[in-house]
Amino acid sequence: MTRWLLKCNECGTEWYLEVSFNLAEMGKIYHYCKTCRKNTFHTVLKRED
Ligand SMILES: [Zn+2]
Repeated sequence: MTRWLLKCNECGTEWYLEVSFNLAEMGKIYHYCKTCRKNTFHTVLKRED
């Protein structure tokens, strides 16, 4: 598992997501945001080792 720092494009909240695949290749992902309480686009900021 790798931790990735994501940033919601709508509210700007930054949070960590643990997944087993490489998000860096995607650049952005569509994921549920706890602050917006809906699915939004997120920018992949960095990988946390
Ligand atoms: Zn959000």
